[in-house]
Amino acid sequence: MCIDLHVHSNASDGSDAPASVVQQAVAAGLDVIALTDHDTLAGHAEALAALPGTDLTLVTGVELSCVIEGTSLHLLGYLFDPDNEALAHELDLLRTDRTRRARAMVDKLTTLGVDVTWEQVARIAGDAAVGRPHVALALVESGVVPDVPGAFTPEWIGSDGRAYVEKYALDPLRAIALVRQAGGVTVFAHPLASTRGPIVGDDVIVAMAAAGLHGLEVDHPDHDEPARKKLRGLAAELDLLITGSSDFHGTVKDTPLGAETTGRAVYEALVAQAHGAAPVRG
Ligand code: AMP
Ligand code: ZN
Ligand code: FE
Ligand code: FE
Repeated sequence: MCIDLHVHSNASDGSDAPASVVQQAVAAGLDVIALTDHDTLAGHAEALAALPGTDLTLVTGVELSCVIEGTSLHLLGYLFDPDNEALAHELDLLRTDRTRRARAMVDKLTTLGVDVTWEQVARIAGDAAVGRPHVALALVESGVVPDVPGAFTPEWIGSDGRAYVEKYALDPLRAIALVRQAGGVTVFAHPLASTRGPIVGDDVIVAMAAAGLHGLEVDHPDHDEPARKKLRGLAAELDLLITGSSDFHGTVKDTPLGAETTGRAVYEALVAQAHGAAPVRG
């Protein structure tokens, strides 16, 4: 079975519409994908509507923006009740602040003499939960940087960048509790993706495990072999599941769907522990 539990659509910073992501997953021969857009569930309806007539199973999910002691991290939530009010309220706050923050980054870029406008970023983002990749695409469009990664630098909007602005994010322990009380399960996304900025220490992973975290995303394109090895050790020690996923973003990144995958037993263990929603088969 080919199971990819971390996929983005244009409901956040992926390039492709949810229905297109589903069609691509079918064409690539995948059995299960999880749609995990940043801080939004807006892509679920379209993805679910695209399923009938296919052999694909969809896991509804989200990638929650978190921060602990000033370090950002991402928490994947799966199979929670999408109508849970506490979770919906937090998602609202996260998205609202993403818009404020993107405007603030545009203001900083303008001050730095860069020719980008909020209208441009808003057009690129469309209805999506706006993120740095949208600002990065505006910088590409304006000829400031050659490509999206070129914007994630100290010069521009990298985590230490001149035009970087922080966004509202959840304490990861509270985020785990939020997803759990909505009936879902949680996996710490790319815990050691050090190319993106500072990473948390083992103590945070230990605390997250104690708070009810279900798994660690070990096999991820941004993890080298030593990082994977270290995470496998931690997962064994803390009795956490191990997942693998592509973190597909369409044309925004070059990783294809199914580039990294999750084992069937792990997938089934996650599904068995979730009671907010069930995977949906086409
Ligand atoms: P945001 O949540 O708005 O701060 O944007 C973070 C997103 O930007 C991540 O989820 C990645 O998809 C993308 N990203 C982060 N670092 C990089 C990088 N160095 N190169 C390309 N994309 C990146
Ligand atoms: Zn993303
Ligand atoms: Fe992420
Ligand atoms: Fe992601």
